[in-house]
Amino acid sequence: MVDLLKDAKYIKGVGPNRIKQLNKLGIYTLNDVITYYPRAYEDRGKPKCIKDLVDGEEALIKATCVTKMTEIKIRKNMSIYKLIVRDDTANCTLTWFNAYYLKNRFRIGETYQFFGKVKRRINQIDISNPIFDDENSNKNTGKIIPIYSSTYEISQNILRKIIENALNEVKGNIPETLPQYLIDEYKLMDINTTTQEIHFPENFKKYNEARRRLVFEELLIMQLALLNLKSNYNNETKGIEFSKEARMYEIINELPFKLTNAQTRVLEEIDRDMESKKSMNRLLQGDVGSGKTAVAMVAVYKAVKSNYQAAVMVPTAILAKQHYENFKSILTKFNIECELLVSGTPKKKKEEILERLRNGQIDVIIGTHALLQENVEFNKLGLVVTDEQHRFGVRQRGIINSKGENPDVLVMSATPIPRTLALILYGDLDISIIDELPPNRQKIDTFAVTPSKEERVNNFVKAQINEGRQAYIVCPLVEENEEINAKSVMEIAEKYKNETFKEYRVEYIHGKLNKKEKDRIMEDFKNDNIDILISTTVIEVGVDVPNSTIMVIENAERFGLATLHQLRGRVGRGKYKSYCILKYKGNSEQTRERMKIMVETNDGFKISEKDLELRGSGEFFGTKQHGIPELKIANLFQDIEILKDIQSLALKILNEDKKLEEKKNLLLKNQIEEKFNKRIDI
Ligand code: ADP
Ligand code: MG
Repeated sequence: MVDLLKDAKYIKGVGPNRIKQLNKLGIYTLNDVITYYPRAYEDRGKPKCIKDLVDGEEALIKATCVTKMTEIKIRKNMSIYKLIVRDDTANCTLTWFNAYYLKNRFRIGETYQFFGKVKRRINQIDISNPIFDDENSNKNTGKIIPIYSSTYEISQNILRKIIENALNEVKGNIPETLPQYLIDEYKLMDINTTTQEIHFPENFKKYNEARRRLVFEELLIMQLALLNLKSNYNNETKGIEFSKEARMYEIINELPFKLTNAQTRVLEEIDRDMESKKSMNRLLQGDVGSGKTAVAMVAVYKAVKSNYQAAVMVPTAILAKQHYENFKSILTKFNIECELLVSGTPKKKKEEILERLRNGQIDVIIGTHALLQENVEFNKLGLVVTDEQHRFGVRQRGIINSKGENPDVLVMSATPIPRTLALILYGDLDISIIDELPPNRQKIDTFAVTPSKEERVNNFVKAQINEGRQAYIVCPLVEENEEINAKSVMEIAEKYKNETFKEYRVEYIHGKLNKKEKDRIMEDFKNDNIDILISTTVIEVGVDVPNSTIMVIENAERFGLATLHQLRGRVGRGKYKSYCILKYKGNSEQTRERMKIMVETNDGFKISEKDLELRGSGEFFGTKQHGIPELKIANLFQDIEILKDIQSLALKILNEDKKLEEKKNLLLKNQIEEKFNKRIDI
């Protein structure tokens, strides 16, 4: 039996230095190594015409010798060997160093295969140190070679070798991870062959089979976990029936604005859910600024007027406070008692709140993760709202929900995903969509600029501040040792503070500040005591500062479209015309395409569709955001058809064996526990 959880440092070729580098790739165990799937493959099986070779690429050619090997002595013990070969299209020079053993290897007029890195100058095509084979042999060349995501510290060759060693260690002994009945029924490749073939495919047919099995498995586990979760707290018979007498319009009439049609429609759906016997289990999707908070408030009102308590959980203290003030200003008119609970709440105050919550004096509690703590108990919790739900793990939502008896659940997300995909990804939730922004909203003008426009951008920011507005400048988080030419927040902040914008009030928020300090700065910004706020993406989550009109994003090429769109949503929240400036570097087609999308549209749903198309499983769909572990191999764009089939299969399995207790489903259960339940990151 192999121990797959054995530390990867014991694998042949790893050792104490390499293991640190592997850790950076997220590899810790033997299992991590063998499931570190290639990101691409290089086909050394298909020769290219010499005339089509591109400088810098690695390629295979099939070519005939036109000269004998010539030796050029550079100095003692150092010779270069040159061979000229040709195919029907062009000549190519091959060079080796000190390859005396090759002197008589090749014969004029014979054809061979060569593989190596191409160097192409105007009249000259070279390949140095090519790997070679005879015309019809494929010992070294006729192979599909895996390419892995790696850092500059570990070369492809080394990583490939480590993985090969790991595979040799486990060869034939990996315990099967899927039930045999599924393998038979769906004609799936077994785990041992799969693992071998996904790394070093014999041919593309085998590769496809291996990939198919892994995608099948990954998506099935995801679907089962999601559906399972739903059945845990969506007991069809035991939900709360909220009162028909608690009428939503009573509070709607008190709101400082008229609801949009979309908000009204969504509230009708929520109202129906709340009044029905079934527990509500609903995802509310709406672009940034579409007014989800008001919808939540109306639902909360209905719950409280039906004599239940409501909890609103948000990811940050700043946001909790903002919601609290917002809720209080309206709900107090109805004698509804609201309280705020965050980890910074003073101990004495906290105890008092917990007591009043327990005996039912508090109707609505708004807070952060602090609400998840064990000592938070409710008298009669009827509704749980989670805002920006992608910030919370699936498990965390489970914890808060379990503080009541089958409470109704509303999760809100500002990360739009295409509807078809949402239906599948959120197998566990019904979906409502706010697809309309409040009327007075202005389009945020977006510009994508290269570094040459730096000064113009700065002047533009100054002009806006001079008119009394505020600006955000966001920088990507730069990880230690990262070899990318991105400026760090500190560096930019210092420069902006002391040079570029020295006559303005500039502050920066970064990971090293403590929570209190961060909150203070946000508060100052909200109160217009700061002109420019520089930060990493901490401000991403729904903070409302209507006076800020400019969002400058440094190194925009490094952010996903989802994040860019979310960040942009921080401005344009008041009555002033707002702008988003994307400063980007590099000239890759992807980058330009992505910038173009951001400039052209403000519609989060359109952006998400584009992102899906461009990246397959990008940030929107990388599912990490949605509290689901990242997909290692499935691509939600490419594999959407499989996903649909998997969804019905998952339903079928759970219908027959709701808790996956039968022996035949044991392996599925284990995988779900391993992948989902271990990830409690409270
Ligand atoms: P999000 O959906 O991003 O959470 P919010 O709920 O924070 O959006 O709403 C953004 C802003 O729009 C808030 O200032 C809110 O008061 C305002 N708002 C919400 N609904 C409407 C509406 N129907 N008409 C006008 N303004 C609205
Ligand atoms: Mg919000």
